[in-house]
Amino acid sequence: LVSRDFHPRNSIVKVCGVSIGEGKRPVVVAGPCAVEGEEQILKTARAVKKAGADLLRGGAFKPRTGPHTFQGMREEGLKLLAKAREATGLPIVTEVMSPDTVGLVAEYADLLQVGARNMQNFELLKELGRIQKPVLLKRGMSATLEEFLAAAEYILAEGNPHVILCERGIRTFETATRNTLDLAVVPLIREMSHLPVMVDPSHATGRRSLVAPMAKAALVAGAHGVLVEVHPEPEKALSDGPQSLTFHGFDALMDEIRHLNAFL
Ligand code: PEP
Ligand code: MN
Repeated sequence: LVSRDFHPRNSIVKVCGVSIGEGKRPVVVAGPCAVEGEEQILKTARAVKKAGADLLRGGAFKPRTGPHTFQGMREEGLKLLAKAREATGLPIVTEVMSPDTVGLVAEYADLLQVGARNMQNFELLKELGRIQKPVLLKRGMSATLEEFLAAAEYILAEGNPHVILCERGIRTFETATRNTLDLAVVPLIREMSHLPVMVDPSHATGRRSLVAPMAKAALVAGAHGVLVEVHPEPEKALSDGPQSLTFHGFDALMDEIRHLNAFL
């Protein structure tokens, strides 16, 4: 079902009024790694909206490597995201970690994110296949492209065709960057599948200074959009501060993307 042989034309996934997968302007998803409080998320939502972002991201359920770090605000975080949507009009992207919370997260989210660590949580994928809300499926950090597409297939096979793929870097021998951004999969996915593809240069690199160059590279490679972490005070962030852009940095990136659009 994910194959282009089955569906030759590009699929377009609509998230509220935003179309992802069109040949037109790329879509920008921006926001903090995690929702940390009302002021933090509202401030960020207003700043990224002003800069021209299309969707607001923010984790309420966080898949952290260790159990002693901030695990997210859970439903309270979802409520704050809804408040931020009300304040700015930006649709909400947030992660869902387990099959039993799909219903809860879907009440608030406009686009449900499956994180890299859950790419092969098959029960979660099947549950997401049974709803009609769009899903942003991130590539597992050690998943081959074939495994990535097979994971998307699980969602489509259950009846939900609204899936966006997201390359977010994979594990390699290289430790200079948090992950290794596999940009070649962007045009390759577009050859093999009709599904829209996005790139997350924040988790792919783990370094603020590399986010803008890799975001631009992703768009030139054919990505339909990028997902970027932005925080009002990255040095105080409860997760992923080192890769989060400041408001100023995000403004600059949006200017560069606007210039780039003329060539895409
Ligand atoms: C995230 O988007 O904050 C996240 C946890 O990403 P990933 O699953 O790609 O690591
Ligand atoms: Mn993060």
